[in-house]
Amino acid sequence: MTHDVIVVGSGVTGASTAFQLAERRAGDVLVLDQGAAGSGMSSRSSALIRMHYTFPPEVQLAVRSDGIFSRWPEVVGAGGVVKRTGFARIVMPGEESNLRENVKMQQSLGADTRIVTGEELAEIAPGLLVDDVAEAAYEPNGGFGDGAVVAGDFMAAARRRGVRFRPGTPIRALLTEGDRVVGVETDDGPEHAGTVVLATGVWSRPLLRDIGFHAPIECELHHVAILRNGPAGGAPLACIDSVTATYFRPEGSGETTLVGSFEGGRPAAPADADAPVDQDALAELAEAASRRLPALEEAGVARGVRGVYDMTPDARPMIGRLPGLEGLVVAVGFSGMGFKISPAVGEAVADLVVGDGPSWIDMHPFRPNRFAEGDLVVPPFPYADD
Ligand SMILES: Cc1cc2nc3c(=O)[nH]c(=O)nc-3n(C[C@H](O)[C@H](O)[C@H](O)COP(=O)(O)OP(=O)(O)OC[C@H]3O[C@@H](n4cnc5c(N)ncnc54)[C@H](O)[C@@H]3O)c2cc1C
Repeated sequence: MTHDVIVVGSGVTGASTAFQLAERRAGDVLVLDQGAAGSGMSSRSSALIRMHYTFPPEVQLAVRSDGIFSRWPEVVGAGGVVKRTGFARIVMPGEESNLRENVKMQQSLGADTRIVTGEELAEIAPGLLVDDVAEAAYEPNGGFGDGAVVAGDFMAAARRRGVRFRPGTPIRALLTEGDRVVGVETDDGPEHAGTVVLATGVWSRPLLRDIGFHAPIECELHHVAILRNGPAGGAPLACIDSVTATYFRPEGSGETTLVGSFEGGRPAAPADADAPVDQDALAELAEAASRRLPALEEAGVARGVRGVYDMTPDARPMIGRLPGLEGLVVAVGFSGMGFKISPAVGEAVADLVVGDGPSWIDMHPFRPNRFAEGDLVVPPFPYADD
């Protein structure tokens, strides 16, 4: 059967794209997923929401997405999805001038963020040890969401607008004719489409390799610990801290704290997410974060999450068409940042499907072929661990 658009993958990226295609009346849209909506890495996401990035187009995507999250009930017809706990970014000592430049750039792009001193941060976020913090960036509206819920809400809203969804349907290959992708192969036979959107996250590489595109995406395994707060409490806000190389945030209704790490394991494979969690890794996370938040010394490990990032060489996503190939738009390689930008990414990808792309952002820096061209993203004021 022939469709106008087939979206492969219903994580936050594919589901958001499907919703935006329906909003643009892109015709007959079919979404296929080997699992269920949000069942891939989106359901394992720590789902922090922040505007603090070093590359201006990333900030544009985050700010625009945050606007959509703020209007969630009216956009998708479901309850609110973001908990606005506040967010702090602590960089390495010596990187404060870059921090100030980045905050200025983020403010110019509409982000609600400001520089605070260590003492001010300690007042905003009681419990944080700030002896080594001269300045930090603070976003009063930062916080976190839920990847599975966002993917599910986008898919439900897309379906109400006429999009068809077939969960439990792995695609085995992209079908090509000459220099055109014309559809996908499923176990029930081929499905044809004018455009295929590939939003298959960590599973993308072999599908692209089979049509001759070698995507430099590497899987990277990450552990996340959910800690049961002790008597001294838990995280007072969401925080990314270069000094301890951890991030943390409140979890649940405040009785637990989520802790993740900057460091991941390579090589890894998508299936590594399904292996049992490594209890030592969880204990190490708790210990590292307790150097910033001593209350966590008394926290017990409640459970752990394993997830895999789809890392590109510049840790930015690959969004757009492949050179010399019609009929395919890819949105993959989100490198551990895909949740918070997914609402705006869906808009941008849908605009690339129905026309020349969005008017509010230049998506050229994210083009998939930039690695082959040697034109990687280089932020003007980077951090050592950016
Ligand atoms: C542990 C962890 C913590 C994270 N923390 C944050 C964070 O704090 N903030 C943030 O912004 N981002 C974070 N991320 C990143 C973010 O969660 C991801 O970038 C985002 O969820 C990716 O969404 P996706 O839709 O691209 O991929 P996925 O959610 O993985 O969706 C891909 C979908 O494609 C389907 N699929 C794959 N192959 C096929 C096939 N052949 N046929 C049919 N279907 C297929 C899968 O079943 C899946 O549903 C984190 C990620 C992890 C793992």
